[in-house]
Amino acid sequence: MKFQTCSIVVGGLRCNGKCPYCVSLMTPLMEPFAVKPADIDKRNFAIACELAKMSQVTTVVFTGKGEPTLYPKLISAYLRLIDENGYRIPIRELQTNGIAIYQDWGKYRKFLATWKKRWLSTIAISCAHYEDEKNRRIFQPDGDYLNLTELIEILHGAGYSVRLSAIMVKGLLDNLDEIKNLVNFAKENRVEQLTIRPLGKPANSRNPEACEWIDKHITSPSLVEEIFAFLNAEVAAKRAKLLLNLVHGAVVYDLWGQNFCLTNCLTSSPNPDEVRQLIFSGRNLYFDWSSLAAKIF
Ligand code: SF4
Repeated sequence: MKFQTCSIVVGGLRCNGKCPYCVSLMTPLMEPFAVKPADIDKRNFAIACELAKMSQVTTVVFTGKGEPTLYPKLISAYLRLIDENGYRIPIRELQTNGIAIYQDWGKYRKFLATWKKRWLSTIAISCAHYEDEKNRRIFQPDGDYLNLTELIEILHGAGYSVRLSAIMVKGLLDNLDEIKNLVNFAKENRVEQLTIRPLGKPANSRNPEACEWIDKHITSPSLVEEIFAFLNAEVAAKRAKLLLNLVHGAVVYDLWGQNFCLTNCLTSSPNPDEVRQLIFSGRNLYFDWSSLAAKIF
C-alpha cells in the first residue's frame, strides 16, 4: 500500500463554524478522539509515523472532525511527537476555518510562532467565497466571522504560506465569472495556493439534513466542464500552464501567475496499491474517511 499524506484528526467534534454542508457531520465518527495531549495513543502514533516513513509520505495535514485550532495544545503535541519519532515529514499543513486565529490573534500568535519552528508551513483556510459577508452566512451566520484579506495578511506576517480552499456552492461560487473573481482575489492577496472543489457528500451519510442542503446547493456538473474549457483556452493563449496532474483527477495550473487547483472530494482510491492517505484519529489509524471499516489498527 502507498500513502501520499498523513492526516491527523486534531481533537473532537467542537467547532466554531456552522457550515450547513459540514462533511464531518456526514462521515463516520472515529471515536474515541484525543482531545488533550495526554489522550494521544503514543504507541499507535509512533507506528503511524513509521508507516508514513516507509510509504515516503511527504505531507502531514492537521485537520479535524471539528475545528483543529480549538485544540492548539494538541497541535503542538503532535508536532513535537513527529519530531521525537525521528520522522521529519517535511511538508506540514493546518486546515482551519481561520475564525479562532483571527478573532483571538493575541492567543494564537504564540502558537503559530511555536508551530512554525516545528516546520508547520502552510495554513489552508476553508472558504465559500471571497466576500466576507457571503462567507459569514455559511460559516458563522450568528457571529462576526472574519476579514479574509486581513487574516491572509496576518498569516503572511507570521511567516506562513496560505492556501484558500474554496467550495463551490450554488448562489456563491457557482459560475465562471465568480471563479475568475476568486482567482483575482487570491492573486491580489498573494495567496500561494488556491484550491476549488465542488460541494460533495459521501455515499453513506449519517446526516440527512446536511445531505438535503447539499442536494439543493450543489453546483451544476457542467460548471466543472466550463472551468476546464476555460483553462484549456487560457493554456492555448499562453495565459495558463498545466503544472501537475495529481491522482484522483486533481489538476494544478499556473493561471495568470496564480497557483490554481481544481479537485474533487474523493478520499479513497480503488487501486489497492495506491491508498491516498493515512488518517490518525488520536487513537486509531484509518485509510478512508468514509468508512470505519477502513481501519488499519
Ligand atoms: S468549519 Fe469545518 S468542521 Fe466546522 S462546521 Fe464548517 S465544515 Fe464543519
